[in-house]
Amino acid sequence: MKILYVDVSKCTGCRACEYACSFAHDGLFNPLNSRIHISEFLDDFVFVPAMCTQCEDAYCVKVCPTGALSKNEETGVVELDYNKCIGCKQCTIACPWGNIKLDVEAKRIIKCDYCGGGPECVKVCHASALQFVEVEDAVLDKQHRSAIYYKDIAQQGV
Ligand code: SF4
Repeated sequence: MKILYVDVSKCTGCRACEYACSFAHDGLFNPLNSRIHISEFLDDFVFVPAMCTQCEDAYCVKVCPTGALSKNEETGVVELDYNKCIGCKQCTIACPWGNIKLDVEAKRIIKCDYCGGGPECVKVCHASALQFVEVEDAVLDKQHRSAIYYKDIAQQGV
């Protein structure tokens, strides 16, 4: 199963991902319509991309009163059925990460859907801060990074 893997240390804050996302879904270059969001910490020059993490036991799915949100067991994506959504916004409140939101102009809920299996944000991320990889590969990369971190600490004799 593939996931969107974020390397915060590589993000330059260019926001190409936000524009690509909004264009892919709505034909607009409008970050407000993007399913991925970049939080800026300009004092530290750190940029943090965030999008739906497609939770295995998703709160948004639990609180949806109409069954409009459901987990696709094959792709891992939490899918939104607009034919069932009544726009009550319970999912936006339930999401611990703030990664489901209301498109205020169209008055409808929007969330990351991995663009059907080929996320547009990944394609335009020149810094490779975003990758669409098998979850096992993401975990291995994370383990390797933390091992390097501890190795450096050990070498410093801390
Ligand atoms: S495209 Fe990549 S580098 Fe640019 S803001 Fe998005 S995640 Fe960061």
